[in-house]
Amino acid sequence: MPTPAPKSQHVLVLNCGSSSLKFAIIDANTGHEIISGLAERLGAATPSVKYKYKGDKTLIDLEPEQAHAEAINTLVTLIKDHKLDEQLIAVGHRVVHGGEHFTKSVLINDQVIESITQAATLAPLHGHANLLGISSAQDSFKGLPQIAVFDTAFHQTMDKVAYLYALPYNLYTEFGVRRYGFHGTSHFYVAGQTAKLLNQPIEKSNFISAHLGNGCSVCAIKNGDSVDTSMGLTPLEGLVMGTRSGDIDPGLFNFLTTQLDYSAQQIDDLLNQKSGLLGISELSNDCRTIEEAATAGNQQAALALDMFCYRLSKQIASYMVPLQRLDALIFTGGIGENSDIIRKKVITQLGFLGMECDTQANLDARFGQQGVISTEQSRIKAVVMPTNEEWVIALDSANIVKEL
Ligand code: AMP
Repeated sequence: MPTPAPKSQHVLVLNCGSSSLKFAIIDANTGHEIISGLAERLGAATPSVKYKYKGDKTLIDLEPEQAHAEAINTLVTLIKDHKLDEQLIAVGHRVVHGGEHFTKSVLINDQVIESITQAATLAPLHGHANLLGISSAQDSFKGLPQIAVFDTAFHQTMDKVAYLYALPYNLYTEFGVRRYGFHGTSHFYVAGQTAKLLNQPIEKSNFISAHLGNGCSVCAIKNGDSVDTSMGLTPLEGLVMGTRSGDIDPGLFNFLTTQLDYSAQQIDDLLNQKSGLLGISELSNDCRTIEEAATAGNQQAALALDMFCYRLSKQIASYMVPLQRLDALIFTGGIGENSDIIRKKVITQLGFLGMECDTQANLDARFGQQGVISTEQSRIKAVVMPTNEEWVIALDSANIVKEL
């Protein structure tokens, strides 16, 4: 008797930002990307959708001002045109903030929407966009289970000592003001993959993972669980990022408002959009551009890179306190997966921990290649592990659908 074909496990993964929508159909069995794309400048003068299917890239212009609902409609049409809808089993949504309600991915129902709406008060920009994505997808993909996968969920294992701010306690109990952490899906994925690469059980692994992209965070992982992470109430805390300042003295708020007449909105904009690598270099938020400029002798670009690495190394070293023993430092995200320069600088700065960079392995592990980039004698391993948040979202969605 012929063996039945394995059941399709295709999941539409949606990552809805305030003015953009990233999408992909992923085969949860293999992680294979069937179609992927990005709708951008939503709600602005020239919105568009670009996508990649079977190696071909296509660009569709939307009407001026069209936003998420129209972008999802365009997505539905192109999924139907390519007959990809018949195999879909679920829609998986990346939800940035799950507050304290969600420690794992869930099937979306009215109660879940209510809880996401409550958590959205902590991150209004992201939260509102996520909810918009969910309601548009519910309208467009009637009958398909919708699953929410939270950026914060992996960090819900943190202890109060790590997640509380030293503020009046009632700000936590009444308003949920605490550190939540983000990039959880990525930290979870690269930790699991690194345990496999190093052939050790994740439940007995102590890792520090550095997700370095436009947003950057580090996570201390003890016996497979997140015990501390550098982002906080919002994704602004912690490291120097592309356009975000990371940690600053909160006294700055008083100075900016009383001396320079900044409004709350202007301060938010300054810290989120105009700071970080862009602010210091006065050139770009893009690490590649900054590396090129620094190599060509631009001093501010070199300073931006040095600050990026110094703050990152300091944060990593501080996680030796909760971890006590470290098996591997993991690099991921656009910068972590590609910048041999930044990885080398950071590993060198952490040399006192007994970490040593293998120059050739560091050069080889770029452009999607995973690998150990520390020398044989290095006491702590350094690993490059490409992240794949979309696959985790697809897998979680497929697993939830299986239980229905
Ligand atoms: P992501 O947000 O994960 O897509 O990462 C974006 C960041 O990765 C940007 O700062 C890029 O400049 C950086 N990046 C991508 N490729 C490279 C590369 N080859 N060298 C250095 N940085 C890179």
